[in-house]
Amino acid sequence: PEGERLQKVLARAGMGSRRACEELVSQGRVMVNGKLVTEQGKRVDAQNDEIKVDGLTVATQSYLFFALNKPAGVVSTMEDPDGRQCLGDYVTNRETRLFHVGRLDTETEGIILLTNHGELAHRLTHPKYGVTKTYMAAIQGPIPRDLGKILGQGIELEDGFARADSFKVLSNVGKNYLVEVTLHEGRKHIVRRMLAEAGFPVERLVRTHFGPIALGDQKSGWLRRLTNPEVGQLM
Ligand code: URA
Repeated sequence: PEGERLQKVLARAGMGSRRACEELVSQGRVMVNGKLVTEQGKRVDAQNDEIKVDGLTVATQSYLFFALNKPAGVVSTMEDPDGRQCLGDYVTNRETRLFHVGRLDTETEGIILLTNHGELAHRLTHPKYGVTKTYMAAIQGPIPRDLGKILGQGIELEDGFARADSFKVLSNVGKNYLVEVTLHEGRKHIVRRMLAEAGFPVERLVRTHFGPIALGDQKSGWLRRLTNPEVGQLM
């Protein structure tokens, strides 16, 4: 049979024991997709059906969130018809369809989120929500003292201005600089283009943060499940 028993889904969502959830149904307090359910035995799709108790939607979905440290040379798609290395190659959980939250260009490394919550995946990349992203870039110095100010004021690119929210020098060994750029827009190659336009072609680019989620010391090519507090911060 398709789906799961309604009382089981309700119980898992914290509405009480299975027995208590059967009671809720008998009492006429449960609706599925806008229809009152009073008979026992109803089966539902926890991911997609809208289930309400006393008129309030119950969160029955089991959302999965992962952070991948994407290696360089991997394309930001779940599948690649041409057989190039892609995000899907790093996913072992194949039970649910996962979406990637935005993209990193092929040569860029670092954090990219994967989730089965399609709507949230979409929302997190929408310019309206302006999720902040932080990148670490390797460039060749010397760099002017006011590079941060220049990036903060905005750089004229062929498709309009691009501004960084913050900039700092993380380290330099001779002419090899590691800098950090934070911004909240998602145009293609934006960090590479901004820095190149300012006179500093990027030699290596790593995204270290996506919104509230940090890459930390997660190894290249590794996938980790986000913690509950992390998921809470994203929703
Ligand atoms: N900026 C870039 O240049 N590349 C990315 O992948 C993301 C932001």
